[in-house]
Amino acid sequence: MPSDLVIVYHRQPYEEVEVDGRIELRENKSPNGIVPTLKSFFGSVDHGAWIAWKQAEDPSRPNFKQTIEVEDDHGNYTVSRLALSPKQVKEFYHVTSKEAFWPILHGFRERYNYDPVDWPNFREVNWQFAEAAAAEAAEGAVVWVHDYNLWLVAGYLRKLRPDLRIAFFHHTPFPSADMFNVLPWRKEILESLLQCDVVGFHIPRYAANFVSAARSLLEVEVRKRVKVEDDLIFEGTALTERSLPTLIRCQGREVAISVAPVGVDVDYIHQCANEAATLHKVEEIRTDLLDRRLVLSVGRTDYTKGGVEQLESFERVLENNSDLHGKVRLMHVSVSANRNMHIYEQIQNDIEAAAGRINGRFGTLDWQPVALITRAIPFTDLVAYYRAADVAWITPLADGMNLVCKEYVATRDDGDGVLVLSEFAGAAVEMGSAVIANPFSYRSMDNAILTALNMPEKERRARMKLLRQAVSHRDITAWGRQLGEEFEALRDYGRKVMTDAA
Ligand code: UDP
Repeated sequence: MPSDLVIVYHRQPYEEVEVDGRIELRENKSPNGIVPTLKSFFGSVDHGAWIAWKQAEDPSRPNFKQTIEVEDDHGNYTVSRLALSPKQVKEFYHVTSKEAFWPILHGFRERYNYDPVDWPNFREVNWQFAEAAAAEAAEGAVVWVHDYNLWLVAGYLRKLRPDLRIAFFHHTPFPSADMFNVLPWRKEILESLLQCDVVGFHIPRYAANFVSAARSLLEVEVRKRVKVEDDLIFEGTALTERSLPTLIRCQGREVAISVAPVGVDVDYIHQCANEAATLHKVEEIRTDLLDRRLVLSVGRTDYTKGGVEQLESFERVLENNSDLHGKVRLMHVSVSANRNMHIYEQIQNDIEAAAGRINGRFGTLDWQPVALITRAIPFTDLVAYYRAADVAWITPLADGMNLVCKEYVATRDDGDGVLVLSEFAGAAVEMGSAVIANPFSYRSMDNAILTALNMPEKERRARMKLLRQAVSHRDITAWGRQLGEEFEALRDYGRKVMTDAA
């Protein structure tokens, strides 16, 4: 059945769980609610479709049904699973996306790896996504493409189906032209994105960077520019941008530029944080800590997350402040999402070495300064640690948004706790009441954690109050609402074009 809304996202919209030899589809356990929010749009159309990939040993004869119909609380939708071979997945996802695009998106030119990229394979996989989306989309439908590993889908789709309205959302940073143009496929990527009707980003800086990258390579005229909303301006920090291009024109087409910072599911987190089991676990954690303060750091094992730099800061702080010995513990959660990749193994080893060194240098029989956790903590447990932590220390070197800092704040309905946040996390433009740190400066990093540990209760509460307002103001519902409005506007526009053509 043709769909009025097609979402193209490389992950499937549910988790597949094997029960008694049969695969059951379960709602995604991820707490931040991006997938459920996207699925909620299916409720406003007669029928929707979701395009994702699934690995198959032999893609010409996959051992699963490629197209399935799902009916759940969100609505009725088709899920079309592209069968990709392990080699295609490796080259499209682990090599081109993670080794070439990822470092450039986050500003790590020196980690960019060009040589192993199989560009024809990347094109082929993106073409398959575009074909699958074209096959599902009704006349004039909206197709919503997500994230950089599907950059070429927009351009292919425009060729296949000129009638469609195409929107694209980036979940990562978008770098400046100087950085983006390191990619040899830069023009092809930008030409594809400029075939969209709307291109979306988390924060104004990424949108501005996109427009300047496009202007560096193509004739692009900025048709409309607006002042950035006050709550996304935090005076003097690295990612603040004051004005935002919202409409550009290139090769006779107009493209809207949108900014929608993703938020967390504040209601769900509040509920988790107040369950009896969570509160009981918080008590246990605090009892085990004795009178020691808990600093919590949570992130994926990735050089962008600045785990090693943070541990080195902790080491310097302990070296220079012996009064903290025995008085503070750092729980450093670093979870590896891509275990089979050499670069992440290397970071993991560096983190383990740093944590071991700190414990070796400063630890005693009854006090280990660092508790390093490398396995994923279930969200319901994480909430208890958020709630028990005196300080959340979140200092990525670059991060599209960072939801952990928002989750920490959302759990703190007791009004206490200090957030130390890197000014290079997208979230920093909304969360200026945190203790802002520059992870590239030893002095800034060390001062920030000391400031947090020494902060008087009155100031902690005043800052937390402002942070909680910011996190609630732009929660996942607000993100959904904004994208929903954009979706309706695209739909109306699509209907008008079809009526005019009739
Ligand atoms: N997370 C988790 N258990 C862990 C570590 C992380 O559930 O042990 C979750 C965390 O709650 C958050 C997500 O993983 O929702 C990480 O999102 P974020 O935007 O901070 O970083 P990303 O990994 O997407 O770059």
